[in-house]
Amino acid sequence: MLRTDTARIETCDIAIGPAGRIVQIGPAIAPQAGVACADLRGRLVVPGLVDMHQHLDKTRTRGLIASSDASLTGAIAAYDRFSGSDSRGDLLARAEATANACLARGTTAIRTHVNVGRNSGLRGLQALFELRERLADRLTLQIVPMMPAEAPGLDPSTASWINDAIALGADAVGGAPAHAENPDEFLKFLFDLAERFAVPVDLHLDEHLDGARHRFREAIALTRQRGMQGRVVAGHCSALAALAQSDVQSVAQALADAGIGVVTLPAANLYLLGRDASRLTPRGLTRVKELMTAGVAVAAASDNIQDPFVPTGSGDLLEIARWTMLAAHLGAGDFGRTFDMISSVPAKLMGLEHYGLQVGARADLLIAEADDVADLISSGPLDRVVLVGGKIVAGLLPLARAAAR
Ligand SMILES: [Zn+2]
Repeated sequence: MLRTDTARIETCDIAIGPAGRIVQIGPAIAPQAGVACADLRGRLVVPGLVDMHQHLDKTRTRGLIASSDASLTGAIAAYDRFSGSDSRGDLLARAEATANACLARGTTAIRTHVNVGRNSGLRGLQALFELRERLADRLTLQIVPMMPAEAPGLDPSTASWINDAIALGADAVGGAPAHAENPDEFLKFLFDLAERFAVPVDLHLDEHLDGARHRFREAIALTRQRGMQGRVVAGHCSALAALAQSDVQSVAQALADAGIGVVTLPAANLYLLGRDASRLTPRGLTRVKELMTAGVAVAAASDNIQDPFVPTGSGDLLEIARWTMLAAHLGAGDFGRTFDMISSVPAKLMGLEHYGLQVGARADLLIAEADDVADLISSGPLDRVVLVGGKIVAGLLPLARAAAR
């Protein structure tokens, strides 16, 4: 078993109660009569992985959409043209295929963004609500409607989907201010909605490399003004990479002080950003190390999986952890905190209750043939068993048997 707080490995037993919670952790727990036991033979046990930024409405559309120019604006336009003709059933089937692929690889919680308005209305949102119901006993799914750039200028009486998108059961409100005509007005619009419906904010913030038009300070100011410290997450923050070191430090400190979490998304950043560079192509990631040093909670997530934004992706968060280490210039001593970026940090940012490898937590666990988290991340073992609420949802446990007296 693993304790992620100290990266210390201990060999011990884990007892799971009938409610699917961990009831005891320790050496040589005596099996109770009639309770199934499994001999893990020293395999590594870690909490289920948490992927806090995906786009399940877009996933697996790579082969359905005419290829774009592989820029972010090109991918947005290509998906927009397609989304008007996408059916709810097809979207649901694609989303479910990716959710199951993630689950088989050890992810037990996903937060997905979903387009609303424009061409698609609430179709994607409703499909994902249905998916959430369908997978309720296997996967924790949080859903964040992405408000389109034009939303602040629309009349709510004719664009009822704006309020409905949140009122129907969204877990947060999202959007990408950089694509709005007036980014500050759009930011305020999102915070207004969050305040009205008492939901957190999950932004696509400055997914570009133009240091002259970032909105970090505006997002920080709004978070403070509205008293939303600890309830705001900023995905991407790529423009931070374009700022001078002194500005990076002051923005990072302000983000930490405002309790804003950051999610780095290496797949999309590496694929989409920096394509206009004629030499020394940038990586596109935010300043992961500087943010961590300032005390910002930094998670890593998949973002898009097999669509015009990112044509690849298996749904394996261990793969994302590897890319984060390489692309963010983390080091060989950083495996522990990189693992935290795909487990405990996003769990906290998503407000997941009863998470972790401790007594009282829900038994959402990944069991794999690995020596420790460094081996888990670097080797990405294929043989994985996933438990949710103490029940096996993927893989097979060896020697399962009921204890008898
Ligand atoms: Zn995204």
